[in-house]
Amino acid sequence: MGKKYKKKLPIRPPKRIPTVFQCPNCGKKSVNVEIDENKREASITCGNCSINVKIEIPPIFTTVDAYGKFIDLYYSGGIKFSEEKEHEHKDR
Ligand SMILES: [Zn+2]
Repeated sequence: MGKKYKKKLPIRPPKRIPTVFQCPNCGKKSVNVEIDENKREASITCGNCSINVKIEIPPIFTTVDAYGKFIDLYYSGGIKFSEEKEHEHKDR
């Protein structure tokens, strides 16, 4: 009987999850995700370009999940920027 445990992912302490991600708009790693636990909302802000969006999230979402949802929305055109640049990248 060997130790045949599968490798478990280490449990990350909730306060050490990353909050800075790569920006799909400008490509810099300067997107900050903040979760508002009261409003069940994630606030996504890029420190480099002017992305500043809020998305609704389920209570179980972490910043990583919220970022993933933001990316999905971004590429599906569901993100509205504070400055709407209608004429840029409208071919997708
Ligand atoms: Zn950016």
